Order: sequence, then structure tokens, then C-alpha cells
Amino acid sequence: MSGGTPAKRTTEGLLRSRIDALIAQIDAAQSSLASIEPEELRERIEIRLRIELGRRRKEARELSAAVSDGPPGQVWTDLFVLQTDLTGLFEEILALVEGAALRAAGADEGYCGLADALIDEIVKKTDVPWGAFTVLGSREFYARSTRVIRVRYPGRSFWELPVAVHELGHFLGPELKRADGARSVHPFEGLLESARADEPHYWSWLHEIFSDVFATHVLGPCYGLTCAFDRFDPVEARDDSATHPAPNTRMAVITAALDGSGAVEDYAWVRDAMVTAWQSSTGEAGTADGRDGRGVLPEPFSSWFAASSDLIAEFLPTAGYDGWLHAMLLAHRLTAADASHNTSLDVSGDSSDGQRIRNVVNAAWLVRLRGVDDSADRRIARQARRLIASGGSEVA
Ligand SMILES: [Zn+2]
Repeated sequence: MSGGTPAKRTTEGLLRSRIDALIAQIDAAQSSLASIEPEELRERIEIRLRIELGRRRKEARELSAAVSDGPPGQVWTDLFVLQTDLTGLFEEILALVEGAALRAAGADEGYCGLADALIDEIVKKTDVPWGAFTVLGSREFYARSTRVIRVRYPGRSFWELPVAVHELGHFLGPELKRADGARSVHPFEGLLESARADEPHYWSWLHEIFSDVFATHVLGPCYGLTCAFDRFDPVEARDDSATHPAPNTRMAVITAALDGSGAVEDYAWVRDAMVTAWQSSTGEAGTADGRDGRGVLPEPFSSWFAASSDLIAEFLPTAGYDGWLHAMLLAHRLTAADASHNTSLDVSGDSSDGQRIRNVVNAAWLVRLRGVDDSADRRIARQARRLIASGGSEVA
């Protein structure tokens, strides 16, 4: 230790012991990564997080070296910034370690694996790496500090898979970037900040609108169907919250996104089924918005919808869903298999376009909408799950 006054030495000692403690935390976080099993999950995250932890460890060591040279005020400030960054990183690692353990215990009933596969299928069609896996949570949400997408516990069903894709939108939006000279700009971040300047809660609302447009773009009709039939609560249809625009508004945005897709004519029947289901449940709850699914979006939603659609068209053009014809064929086969209790159905032809899981989810919704009988939902979901697990070659 260098010389100096006793007070300086005390400050140096304090700073050093805090930095040492932080380095010990970084080391502990790194060893906990090694506990993530199975290997397939660990491989998704390990390299990225090891690099990130290594970078922070280096910063901490540099800070430690600066203690005896620099003014302590600056070191305290830098240490504060480093600790704040690490808090987010530690939260992410804890969520992944916990999530992997719950998955290993079977608490997710296999839904996290299905959600991973669906997200992988979509992310593969973008240039944004995800580098994570889904974990269970009390509700679906995407924590801004992490890439961890939570799947709702207890897992209600196969039918909720599309919601994980909405959460993926929360991650992808801020990741979109374009080169601007030597640096890169994140256009969605820019939109978020200008929305926040208008009203603080607009930041969250715009995030939701973007994720709804994104999920509709990459999933096709099954996202809006999930919202209208299973997720949005008609009792709250008119209620904005601090974080989410009212479900009526979001349904209007989702409908507009479907109408704006290249397959608007193909989607006509199923889109009407979606709008009708939402209108009848909100009509019964006394919360209908009276727009009959065709009204003009009010501001600021109209501008946000246009801006989100433009960003998605520019940055995610190849991720869009265009497997509807496959889904319709698959739906016929699923219906026939259901009617005849068929145990084996070759649908390998539907798997060729990198949209296999999306095709299965949309097909299952088509069959569900035709509503054979009360227990059909469960049978179809079971068949669809097996179809995904089998790689598209059979319905058991
Ligand atoms: Zn959301």
C-alpha cells in the first residue's frame, strides 16, 4: 500500500475491500453458470455471459489499481456505475440458474422447451442473436436488464406459446441497429425516448405496441387469436394501465397489423373470427369499444403503429410469417387425425420453410376455431405438441 495520511489510507482500504468483494461476486456468478444443466441450455448462454463477466472483472481490477493513484471521488463514482451494471447481470444469471433448475425438475411441463424452439425458429430469420433460454415466471415478462423471457407458471397450455413471442419483441426492438458512420444507432430506442418525452408512461406503451405488431408479423393470426380468446380480459378492455394500453386498443393494433400483412385476403375468415370473439366478450362485459375492428387508430397509437411497422419492414423482413397455406393444409390433417384417432401422420412436407412450429401453432388454432367438441382443445393441443416434438413427422 502507498503512503499518505491515515485518512487516505482508510479510504483506500475501504475502496479496495469493496472492489475485492465485487470481484469475489463476479467469480461466484461465473462458477454458478457452470451449474446450469443440461449442457444444451448452458451452451446457449455461457460464452456471452463469461465474456461479459470477464469484461467487468477487468474493469474492477483497473479500478483497484487506480485506488492509490487517482482521486478517491472518481473511483467511488466508477465503482457505483460498475456495481449498477453488475446488478443487472447478476439478476440475469440468477434467473437463468433458477430457471434451469425448475426446468430440470419438470415444473414447466415442457413448455419452456417449446417456447425456446418457437423463439429459435423466429430469431434464426433475423440477424440478432438471442443467446438465452426461457424460464418460468409468475407471469410472462421480459426484464429489460436481461434477455430472459419468462413463460407463465403454472403453464396453462400450448395455446399460450404465442405470448412468449410478444416478449421476444421486447428484447428485439431495442437491439435493432443501423450503422451511422463509425457508430451504430438504435432507432427504436430513439422512438422510445421521444415517446417518453411526451408522457413518461408512453415509453412502456410504445414497447407494448411494438411487441404486438412484431408478434403479429412473425406469427400470423395465432397471436391475435391467443389475445382475443385466452389472454386479454374483456372486463378490463377499456382500462389503460401505467405499463400497458387498454386491451381494446391493443386488439385494434393487432387487427391493423394483420390487415397490413401481405396475406390479408387469406386471413379474412380467421381475422373476422378473432374480431367477433373479442367483440362478443367485450359486449357481454359492457366494455366494447364500438369500432367493430375497422376503425382508425387514435393518436399516438396510429403513429406508433406506423413507426413499428416501418422498423419491422426494414430490419426484420425475412422473419415475417408466410406459412398460412401450410397451416391450412396441416389443419385439415390434424382434423382428420383427430376424427379418426390416427396415430401417425406424415406432415414432413410442412417443415421445409423454417416455419414449422409457427405452422403447427396456427394450424392448431384453425382446428380449435372449428370447435368440434368441448374436449377438442385439449386433444388438439396434445397432438400439436407431439407434432412439434417429433420434428413434423407424426401425429400421435
Ligand atoms: Zn409486453
